[in-house]
Amino acid sequence: MVTVIDTLKVRPRHPEKQARPDSPLLRKPEWLRVRAPGSAGYNETRDIVRQHGLTTVCEEAACPNIGECWTQKHATMMIMDEICTRACAFCNVATGRPDPLDPTEPTRVAEAVATMGLKHVVITSVDRDDLPDGGAQHFADVVLAIRAAAPATTIEILTPDFLRKGGAEAVVIDAAPDVFNHNLETVPRLYLSIRPGARYYNSLRLLERVKERDPARFTKSGLMVGLGESKEEVMQVMDDMRAAGVDFLTIGQYLQPTRKHAPIDRFVTPDEFAAYEQIARSKGFLMVSSSPLTRSSHHAGEDFERLKAARLARETAA
Ligand code: SF4
Repeated sequence: MVTVIDTLKVRPRHPEKQARPDSPLLRKPEWLRVRAPGSAGYNETRDIVRQHGLTTVCEEAACPNIGECWTQKHATMMIMDEICTRACAFCNVATGRPDPLDPTEPTRVAEAVATMGLKHVVITSVDRDDLPDGGAQHFADVVLAIRAAAPATTIEILTPDFLRKGGAEAVVIDAAPDVFNHNLETVPRLYLSIRPGARYYNSLRLLERVKERDPARFTKSGLMVGLGESKEEVMQVMDDMRAAGVDFLTIGQYLQPTRKHAPIDRFVTPDEFAAYEQIARSKGFLMVSSSPLTRSSHHAGEDFERLKAARLARETAA
């Protein structure tokens, strides 16, 4: 048995997973191996993050791309604490009872974005089922604070699902981020085991509601593969996303954070990722990123430029 301890708070990082049997950690194929982080740019980003007391999903989720992204000063900020009220079987973010919201956070995040001189920023959060609005107003406050402090920076948000929060997400949509992202994560058949606190059709409806409220807003969603899904199920999710008006699809390999997390069913090959990309493009997404190391925030700035160009080209051709 392995107990994963958060050394800062001396508590199990995933208390709900401690009774689960261990799943062996599979050796990664060559196409998933990355260099250990440590460049000057990486250190600079780390220092800014620490100075502003920020949390990043890059670290909390043990993202394999951290060396590359932080070298390019691209970090994804995680707001509303570092403890999540959900307990998804794939996720490395700590589970438990988060602290009350910090009213200084919108300003701190906005100052960090301005200091880093970011062209594009991605903001995500933990799930806050404990709050009446799921943290929607706080999310909106962060977007508005960044707009004020760094007006030239484009803003992409990766939100929770606001399940049972009575349409609270409207306030986040109305804050007008440039890209509204919510990941479906996996196919509906696997929700009960992989994302038990979420509901597939609620997440899909959230994406649809963004388009209903603000048709010009770009929407984005992502899937992890290698969890046991079939190709047909992935294609059905693509169809569902297109029906909800999603513009941008990301697909990446699921990596198991610890022995207590959901096991990897298999490593999807780079050729299969390329095939998914081709299929998704034929279904009408404006942008598709599909590769073993694709994560929803990976290369988000460059991809946002491509996304805008793709919409313009489609509108011009129409
Ligand atoms: S892909 Fe996203 S989460 Fe991973 S290091 Fe890059 S910015 Fe952070």
